[in-house]
Amino acid sequence: MTVLEQGITLDVFVTERAEDVDDLLGMYTNFLLEEFDRIGELAFGNAAAGYLLTSFIRCDDHNIGFFSLDPAGYSVELIYLKPEYRGRGIATLVLQHLKQHCPQQLALKTPLSPGGEALADKLELGRADNLPHEEATNEDVLQVIRAGIKATCKHGKSAGNPSKPCKRCYQKTLRRYAVEALNKVVTETRQVLALRAGTSSRR
Ligand SMILES: [Zn+2]
Repeated sequence: MTVLEQGITLDVFVTERAEDVDDLLGMYTNFLLEEFDRIGELAFGNAAAGYLLTSFIRCDDHNIGFFSLDPAGYSVELIYLKPEYRGRGIATLVLQHLKQHCPQQLALKTPLSPGGEALADKLELGRADNLPHEEATNEDVLQVIRAGIKATCKHGKSAGNPSKPCKRCYQKTLRRYAVEALNKVVTETRQVLALRAGTSSRR
């Protein structure tokens, strides 16, 4: 556990801990739904993955947010705070702490929200753009999501603009997407731990 000012602490997300997975899932789902309201599409960036370090931001022993860090690029993939904890300088505090401990210039992964842009400017953080293969993967995911919604939506004309995917179905798909994404991480971690147990058996 790392103690920042103002009673704010950081604690590592543990994939094998069910309550950690539940908490992260709740926040990641809300992140996706909030971003959908803003941009009308799936927001990129993973809450947890094999290549990421994920931590909770905590206040009075409650998880109030999280961030995921890509150590390979010294970049923050996602940072999220529950709405009721925003506007108190907590994201600034966390990013400042990460910046201090970063051996290179800390960067935020693009695309950034308006709030993210403001923070990057204020704290003089870099911007890390997606690599071409990441860009291509993101585009594939979007196509799969759009096609899935189109194939299963039964809301017809009530869904609004026919050129845009149905909003209700999109939100449902995002909830499912969050569950699948975190399940994948949990499964992969179990496999890694099983392999590790197998390779360390000669001790
Ligand atoms: Zn629909």
